[in-house]
Amino acid sequence: MEKPLVLDGVAIAAEIKAEVAGEVAQLSAEGIRPGLAVILVGSVAASEMYVRSKVKTCGELGIYSEMLTPPESVTTEELLAMVDGLYAREEIDGILIQLPLPGHVDTKRLLEAVAPDKDVDGFHPVNVGRLQSGQPGLQPCTPAGVMEMLKRRGILVAGKNAVVIGRSDIVGKPMAMLLLNASATVTVCHSKTANLGGFTQAADVLVAAIGRPGFVTEDMVKPGAVVIDVGINRITDERKIAEFFGDDAGRAATFAKRGSVVVGDVHPAAFAVSSAYTPVPGGVGALTIAMLMSNTVKAARLRRGGES
Ligand code: NAP
Repeated sequence: MEKPLVLDGVAIAAEIKAEVAGEVAQLSAEGIRPGLAVILVGSVAASEMYVRSKVKTCGELGIYSEMLTPPESVTTEELLAMVDGLYAREEIDGILIQLPLPGHVDTKRLLEAVAPDKDVDGFHPVNVGRLQSGQPGLQPCTPAGVMEMLKRRGILVAGKNAVVIGRSDIVGKPMAMLLLNASATVTVCHSKTANLGGFTQAADVLVAAIGRPGFVTEDMVKPGAVVIDVGINRITDERKIAEFFGDDAGRAATFAKRGSVVVGDVHPAAFAVSSAYTPVPGGVGALTIAMLMSNTVKAARLRRGGES
C-alpha cells in the first residue's frame, strides 16, 4: 500500500490566513477594518492560551481585536449586558465567548444572545438552521476547517460513505451536516452506537470527534480510508505514551519538556492503513483559528450586505 498523505493543518492554515490577510487589505481599501471581540471569563490556563493565539493571529492579519476578561464570579446577566454592548458597536464584527464557562453561568442563554450576524463560532440556532438548510451563514470553525482541508487537498466526499464518531453541537453534528451538504452518505455514531466497528470499517471518510485518546484502532479503519482526527487529548502517563508512540524520540522529548503529550482520538497505528490522515498535533487543531479569522471577515462582509 502507498504511504498515506499527511493532511498538514499548519500548511493549510497558512494558506487560509494569507488569503484572509488579502481580504482584510481589500476591505481596508474600502474603509472597513474587521473586528473581533473575545470574552474570556476567569483564568483557565488552556482557555487563556487559546484566546492569546486568537488575538495574536488577528494582529498578524490586520483584524482589530479586543479581549474582555471578566472575573470568574461574573453573572449571566453581566455577561449578557457585555454581549449587548459589543453588539451595538459598529467596529465589532464578531463576538466570541471562550468556552467552557464557569458552572453558574447559563452557557446556552449566553450563546443565543450573540446575534447570528456576529456569531463567528456559528453556534446560534439561526446559524445552525442556516447550515442545515444550506443557506449562507457562519459555520462552526472546527468542522468548517475539516471541509476546507479536504477541498484544498482535492479529496472529494460526494457519494462516499462518511462516518462521524461524536454528536456534539460544536463538532460532530455540524461536521455531519457539512458532509451531507457535500453529498456524502453520512452516518453519525456516538456512545450508544451498537457495533461501532461495523460502521467505521465501511467508512471511506472517518471523522473521530470523541475526546478519548487513541480510541479508533487499526482494525476499525477500512484500508485506504481518509481519517480525520479531531480529538485533542493530553496524556501524562509515560506508559500510555509508549503504548501510543513506541520509541518515538520526538514525543519522548516533548514529554521530557512539558510533562505531557497530545494525542488524538485515533491510535497512531491506525493512520498507517489510511490513504490520508490528519496528524495530532498539526492537523485539524491548526485550522480552527484560521477559520475563526475567515469567519470574522465573512461576518464583516455579510453584515454589510456582501456575499459570503
Ligand atoms: P464532546 O462534547 O465530549 O462529545 C464527544 C462525543 O463523542 C459525544 O457525542 C459522545 O457520545 C461520543 N463518544 C464518547 N465516547 C464514545 C464511545 N465510547 N463510542 C462512541 N462515541 C463516543 O466532545 P467535543 O467537544 O465534540 O470534542 C471531541 C474532541 O475533539 C475532544 O478531544 C476535543 O478536545 C476535540 N476538539 C478539537 C477541536 C479542534 O480545534 N481540533 C475543537 C473542538 C473539540 P454521546 O453523545 O453519546 O455522549
